[in-house]
Amino acid sequence: MGSITSDHVVLLATGGTIASRADSVTGSTLAADSGASVLESAGAGAGAVEVVDLMQKGSYLLTFQDMLAICAAIERALAAPSTRGVVVTHGTDTMEETAYLADLLHDDPRPVVFTGAQRAADHDDPDGPTNLRAAITVAMSPEARDRGALIVFDGDILSIPGTRKSETSTVKAFSNPDLGSVGTVTEDGSVRLSPAPRRSAPLDFPHTESNTGEPARVDIVAAYPGADATLFRAALAAGARGIVLEATGLGNANAALCEAVRSAVLDGVVVVTSTRVHAGPVRGVYGAGGGKTLEGVGAIPSGLLRPSQARMLLQTLLSLELTPQVIAQHVRQRTGPAPV
Ligand code: ASP
Repeated sequence: MGSITSDHVVLLATGGTIASRADSVTGSTLAADSGASVLESAGAGAGAVEVVDLMQKGSYLLTFQDMLAICAAIERALAAPSTRGVVVTHGTDTMEETAYLADLLHDDPRPVVFTGAQRAADHDDPDGPTNLRAAITVAMSPEARDRGALIVFDGDILSIPGTRKSETSTVKAFSNPDLGSVGTVTEDGSVRLSPAPRRSAPLDFPHTESNTGEPARVDIVAAYPGADATLFRAALAAGARGIVLEATGLGNANAALCEAVRSAVLDGVVVVTSTRVHAGPVRGVYGAGGGKTLEGVGAIPSGLLRPSQARMLLQTLLSLELTPQVIAQHVRQRTGPAPV
């Protein structure tokens, strides 16, 4: 890391579309630009920024270990008192996962802001430079303190739990269908934020190197009309210690899946029920294999968290080597009616 000693933002560059351009041989779009060139694209007036190149990857390639490495770099950046805030440039596909992990672990009032782009750096009209300027503005902003991690994208400021990529290609890539955005940032640098919500206590940093180096396996299994328990059992056979059920509606499955959940829970596997539906909470209402039956056999409803973030929560808690009972308490505490 460089040596800016006055107040500044640390930019952690990880790749993604904001750093991508078309490969001249294959024509496919690949992360290629350094953090310095991503910053340069944002132009003058971006303020004092120290750049750290962490990785150059599309976020669809990131592992849990990569995401932990990003969170460790955030901690290192915040160890310097002259760091006012941190910006992470990141692919959009799995930004909701890394940002959620950072939010779960973040134990500091200073802002950590994730941003990226939908249009590559070599696009005629890229959105990355504007998003990056906005993210730096928010990271420097006193109003953005005490909020954990944030996503800044297309002028919106979003808190992380429940926020997800909701558009594959338009520039307004992220939304929080249940809670909306928490603020806005304009091109002229004005930041408006709603009052900071109460936050759950941060989780300990999981040090997965201390065991086999592999994080606990957590799979997502979908319920759909006619689904049997074959894939659920395959996940268990592959060593899953946690399973997120991507259920239908309010969080419903069927009798075969409920039976598989019952025996997995008895074996110490943690099962969380989420939903494939765009918005609204998961709730145990229906019987005969529905959400009430699932709760009855030990599945934990994910509240407003969708499968991507429910899986990160479970993987983090399992990596902390907590018992299934303690994990269940943590999940319930973070997925209660609000905040999620
Ligand atoms: N579409 C993605 C992006 O915005 C690819 C990725 O997630 O890296 O960067």
